[in-house]
Amino acid sequence: MAQVRRKPRVAALKKPRTVIAGNWKMNGLKSDLREAKSLVRYLARSSQRSASSAEVVICPPATLISALSEVFRGSVAKSGGQDCHANASGANTGDVSAEMIKNAGGRYVIVGHSERRADHAESDAMVCAKAEAGHRAGLVSIVCLGESLSERKQGKTLGVIGRQLKKSLPAETTAKNTVIAYEPIWAIGTGLTPTLKEIEQAHNHLRRGLLRILGQDGAKLRILYGGSVKPQNAAEILAIHNVNGALVGGASMKAEDFSKIIGAVG
Ligand code: PEP
Repeated sequence: MAQVRRKPRVAALKKPRTVIAGNWKMNGLKSDLREAKSLVRYLARSSQRSASSAEVVICPPATLISALSEVFRGSVAKSGGQDCHANASGANTGDVSAEMIKNAGGRYVIVGHSERRADHAESDAMVCAKAEAGHRAGLVSIVCLGESLSERKQGKTLGVIGRQLKKSLPAETTAKNTVIAYEPIWAIGTGLTPTLKEIEQAHNHLRRGLLRILGQDGAKLRILYGGSVKPQNAAEILAIHNVNGALVGGASMKAEDFSKIIGAVG
């Protein structure tokens, strides 16, 4: 009797939990913590209605990590740093280590933001060492990458971000200790965004790269989009295949706007 060949069963992958992360950049004084307090109230109300299942993170300036972590105590929101040194401690005046961020209550650290790459000449190798430092300290490293406007105009976007991905991820990267943020440099703080199709192309390319580098774990690693995300465009961006959240600059400073972005998570 002919054997009936069954198709191999492909385990359905659970959709990774969406991350909405805020980057306050070099903005924020103690008085701005009132925005974080409003956010906590919003999150408490929305969890009663189970309106949003997003993981919520705010990365304030280093001076506020400790105070923000206190504000977030008992809430689902977490705090993080915007950068860290690759070393745990040492003669590095002005720098902050991943261990210090953890000690201040932070759970995440952004590394390789384009403003750091540009203002401090950070190479992919340095970004990789910083991501590794985040892992060493038990933080989730949010590794940023993205193309410049001239690279996009020359059709180099996918090549550029593919190379950055390969070079910026440390060997011990997993879906639990790392999040990628695709941030086209020309879209940051400008009000400009790529088309939805362009965002999808970039995220699909990064997903294929992650699968090549990490195998099946690459399917679970969250890829955030960043660059002029606002309440008005959040829902359509977050609905794109392989967009697993957003890294938000300007709109994360106001609880009302940031809450609307969180509320746009489907
Ligand atoms: C950012 O700083 O990472 C960012 C995306 O900024 P904005 O949302 O203001 O473009």
